[in-house]
Amino acid sequence: MRILSLASGSKGNCYYVESGESHILVDCGLSLKRLEERMAEAGIDPSKVGYVLISHEHSDHTKGLVNFFKKYHPKIFCNYISAERIEKLNPELESRINTFDNEQLFLGNVTVDAIPVSHDSSFCTAFKLSAGSAAASIVTDLGFIDSGIIDKISGSKVVFLESNHDERMLRICHYPSIIKSRIASNMGHLSNTQAGHAMVELVRRGTRHFALSHISENSNTYEKAYVTIANILGESGINIDTDVVVRFAHQHKIGNNFKLGEDD
Ligand SMILES: [Zn+2]
Ligand SMILES: [Zn+2]
Repeated sequence: MRILSLASGSKGNCYYVESGESHILVDCGLSLKRLEERMAEAGIDPSKVGYVLISHEHSDHTKGLVNFFKKYHPKIFCNYISAERIEKLNPELESRINTFDNEQLFLGNVTVDAIPVSHDSSFCTAFKLSAGSAAASIVTDLGFIDSGIIDKISGSKVVFLESNHDERMLRICHYPSIIKSRIASNMGHLSNTQAGHAMVELVRRGTRHFALSHISENSNTYEKAYVTIANILGESGINIDTDVVVRFAHQHKIGNNFKLGEDD
């Protein structure tokens, strides 16, 4: 299994997962042109993408969906509540989205568990994608993370985990106060601190590779995220430099090309 980020952040999100003949996009929040550029850079043939999984309707996760669908005709999958909203916002997609509730999906040889998370959209799901013993999870756009979510993603070799904001930077940044409260709320986005505590639990359950994702350009920096998380891991006896691999999923470039063998 191969997984990488094509874009991550409030200006657009898209991840790519490949295993055998299954080629999957998770979210489609870049313009078609930008998406094609980044896929070319990563050596991905867009015409091979058979499936697009959508986490929720926000435009940073869906803005390229209509044009990508029109050109390449992948099967789109989304929770039924989000699908209704997306079809309403994009009439071209009416009756074109395959919906799920809480059942597992089988996309070729990749099994997908969709995990409901708390976010200020009609519905939102994180995803765990598995093929054989290889598994990776993409967990962004959630206001909190609890042991129920961690149970469902445990066993992942790699977790793309939201580390959206530094709490202090969010308080003093230029956003209107209503936006700040929304982001910090249980229906908003995970802070570095929340991500750090979740990582402690995930490391205890065997995850070693992380890509910090959906990092805010206005209320966070890579350095803040890294230092905050290093301290939280350190308090639990986990050394960020030697015990785990922590990378960043970038907004403006591809990255985190993780390859997971069957026995990784
Ligand atoms: Zn988002
Ligand atoms: Zn969102």
